[in-house]
Amino acid sequence: MKTNPKQKTIGSLHARLKDKINLSDKRFQRGSVWAKGQEQFLIDTIVKNLDIPKLYFWELKEDSHYKYSVVDGQQRLATIFKFLDGLLELNEEFTPEYANKKFIDLPEDLQDQIYNYELTLVIIENADEEEIQDLFLRLNNGTTLKSQERRMNLGGNLSKYIVDMANHKVFSKVIFKNKHRDYEQILAQCLKLELEGKATNTQGKYLDLMYKEEIDFEDNGTTAKKFKKVLDYMEEVFSDEDKIPELKRFNFISLYLMVSQMTDKFVIKDKKDLFKKFLIDFWDELTNYRNQEQISDEDRNLEFDDFIQFISSRTDSLESIEGRHKILIKYFMLKNPNLEIFDNNRNFTEEQRITIYRRDKEMCWHCNKHVDWVDFEADHRPNPHSKGGKTSVENGVCAHKICNIKASNKENLAKNWLS
Ligand SMILES: [Zn+2]
Repeated sequence: MKTNPKQKTIGSLHARLKDKINLSDKRFQRGSVWAKGQEQFLIDTIVKNLDIPKLYFWELKEDSHYKYSVVDGQQRLATIFKFLDGLLELNEEFTPEYANKKFIDLPEDLQDQIYNYELTLVIIENADEEEIQDLFLRLNNGTTLKSQERRMNLGGNLSKYIVDMANHKVFSKVIFKNKHRDYEQILAQCLKLELEGKATNTQGKYLDLMYKEEIDFEDNGTTAKKFKKVLDYMEEVFSDEDKIPELKRFNFISLYLMVSQMTDKFVIKDKKDLFKKFLIDFWDELTNYRNQEQISDEDRNLEFDDFIQFISSRTDSLESIEGRHKILIKYFMLKNPNLEIFDNNRNFTEEQRITIYRRDKEMCWHCNKHVDWVDFEADHRPNPHSKGGKTSVENGVCAHKICNIKASNKENLAKNWLS
């Protein structure tokens, strides 16, 4: 593989290469379909002569219909072409001096300036698809697969343990290969989540630190046992399937976190089929959403847009892992609102709380006003806990702490009066 940076003007790309570029190679689609505002903002950036990020072109073999496939920058380039072709106008908010004007309506010197705007292309030569995917893992996640090979040579108990666990049969379900110790890397990331007990940063430097800190890791200790239990569970979720294409790297990590968190709080022992159905359905819905050519404002799903961001760049960061986790938990809990928690605890779990808060659109059940997360309490309604109401998403509502207290005081008062 060789990468070769090149400057090209917008004009020459449009005039000479437009038909030779594949702008919709599904293998490399990242991000959701842009809203019109995002397109107009990009054009405004070019009109103002400001920088836009590099575009990555993969040079294809001779027999292909196209000469290049765009592996990063599809939306940017499509938007530029759309503008030059007269299918997009400038936005009055960003570019008031040329409000609602199309390319053809602009003054000639500005048209020239846009034609002469230089884009930085990176041409990738002699690469196969796997190498391209590796390159983007590196660009987007700040982590490289090769570094896991180095990490493995650090020695220590953790290193041995992770090498062992890479033979776990859960990996017979994934479609990605163990090319550069990918399985060990994913396991290290999952173990980092297990040690923290919540979403956390899992990029390379944090894994390095963990290897140093856990040099005496006990392969028969509590953490190791829990870790294996979760992986066993994940394997059993898909035991009647051969390969699960949906179980991509980031989904593997997210599923690990979901199962690890839920197994301590919810009765999920016999609920494995729910996880399988959930993952496949969720991914299907997301893929359909993503494959739409255009999305109108009312069809926009902001959570899907966020999720797509969280799997498109810096996927191993705390922000992305936590963001995905919250969205997945909410969808899972809403699909399975009767999921029981261990013992008759009156406290809602974090997963239930997030789900209820988001489902109720952050509005208080009692006073119908907005609730900030810090003032939020999940309240047992319509059946109060005192009357045997369950601690479930179905029987939980979003409330202000203060409204909840007032309501239960009233109920207790009434109860005292009646008794
Ligand atoms: Zn309230």
